[in-house]
Amino acid sequence: DSDSVGWRFDNTYARLPDVLFDPANPVAVRKPQVAILNHSLADKLGLNLRAIPLKAAAALFAGQDLPVGSQPIAQAYAGHQYGGFTMLGDGRAVLLGEHRTPSGRHVDIQLKGSGRTRFSRGGDGRAALGPMLREYVISEAMAALGIPTTRSLAVVTTGEPVYRESIRRGAVLTRVAASHIRVGTFEYAARRDEATLRALTDYAIARHFPELIDAPGKYLDFFRAVTDRQASLVARWQHVGFIHGVMNTDNVAISGETIDYGPCAFMNAYDPGTVFSSIDHGGRYAYGNQPNIMQWNLARFAETLLPLLDPEPEKAVAIATEVLENFPAEFERYWLAGMRKKLGLQTDEAGDVELIQALLDWMRKSRADFTNTFRDLSSEGLPAGDRYREPEFQAWHDRWQKRLGRDGLQNGVSYNLMKSVNPTAIPRNHRVEEALSAAEERDDLSVLHRLHEALASPYESREEQTEYRDPPANEYGYRTFCG
Ligand code: AMP
Ligand code: MG
Ligand code: MG
Repeated sequence: DSDSVGWRFDNTYARLPDVLFDPANPVAVRKPQVAILNHSLADKLGLNLRAIPLKAAAALFAGQDLPVGSQPIAQAYAGHQYGGFTMLGDGRAVLLGEHRTPSGRHVDIQLKGSGRTRFSRGGDGRAALGPMLREYVISEAMAALGIPTTRSLAVVTTGEPVYRESIRRGAVLTRVAASHIRVGTFEYAARRDEATLRALTDYAIARHFPELIDAPGKYLDFFRAVTDRQASLVARWQHVGFIHGVMNTDNVAISGETIDYGPCAFMNAYDPGTVFSSIDHGGRYAYGNQPNIMQWNLARFAETLLPLLDPEPEKAVAIATEVLENFPAEFERYWLAGMRKKLGLQTDEAGDVELIQALLDWMRKSRADFTNTFRDLSSEGLPAGDRYREPEFQAWHDRWQKRLGRDGLQNGVSYNLMKSVNPTAIPRNHRVEEALSAAEERDDLSVLHRLHEALASPYESREEQTEYRDPPANEYGYRTFCG
């Protein structure tokens, strides 16, 4: 049984005020079958998935066979979706509880696609195989890139149909997260009563920022710390061309992890206006708008914390505003530090922002591939290819080489640094789609397994293996969906 896997549950969230969640059991499904298991993540969590037969793993991750010590709940939350406030909650997910890892960390174990809950509204509570595999492969790629993210432990098919635009195979994803507390959880709690808000805030501080528990101004420090993690996170996204696609406040995790892999995608040709989501008509969540939107989301977060920041509302607003107004500078600091590394710069010069911007301007005009341009620059000499013969690029390259020279380092050192931060393999849209079609249409998971394996070492040099390096010949009109 699932005991031998090594679960150690300690369900602290379920001890919070009960307006924050609702008990919820995963629904029964016809024929659970394993699609993919993440053994390397399991190892890190102190879990041994090889201790049980595949059939038992399928029943476990479909929510049929609950692990000992779990206590399934659906979490209540709210959120601003495309700017409009709405009540939400886990409509197709249940939190089994928090597993304690060997290092003593609590991680949420959540099943996504496990049936209706009190928060399902008109939805069926289900998920289709393609979107769950998509979350699996992209979230794991983000982790391998070193970007804070929720993880994926398993995907199982349910043996039941899911009705979307077409009939799809049903599936359940097991998501592992530092927690599922969102900005939207605070928006929900703040609209209940101050006691609930305070309980949630104290809990979030204890869980994610324990160093603040005894700080005299801990609520302001907490707000600052969350803001700081989000500034860093969005900078990391920008550095790899990741477009989240649905940065609603319910999809912003207080822990600072990337969460909710719906319509997300990686940019190929550099263009700040890039949008893939089929429903993002106004470009609200475009690549270049992600820092602004995060600041907007943090303003909604700040509003929930006002009663804790100061008893005088006007003073509370002034305190929060000061932190919020500092967000662009904070983001810029993280962004610039990462961009310097991408260009091999180890010292700071005042002209660096301009140097970086000149490269990006050229990339936009020539529709250069974001990922490959930085990797091409990570080797000695002028990179090969017609695009790099353009005078504008060559002038920039000269200027950059002089700047590298002023760093006083051997060029080899700079190039090695660059190779450690500029990936060769990202989850290219066409490769992801190819892997999902093979899985959904032909029940062939080998394409996905191979992709997943390549993405596990994103910084490896791939001179021969161009399959995962090359952008698509043409991706005009590529669209993503919320799943
Ligand atoms: P998301 O777009 O994934 O951030 O989800 C927004 C809200 O819709 C959350 O409350 C989800 O639980 C809910 N939701 C999404 N899909 C379904 C579904 N198939 N059934 C019920 N609720 C859903
Ligand atoms: Mg969501
Ligand atoms: Mg989603």
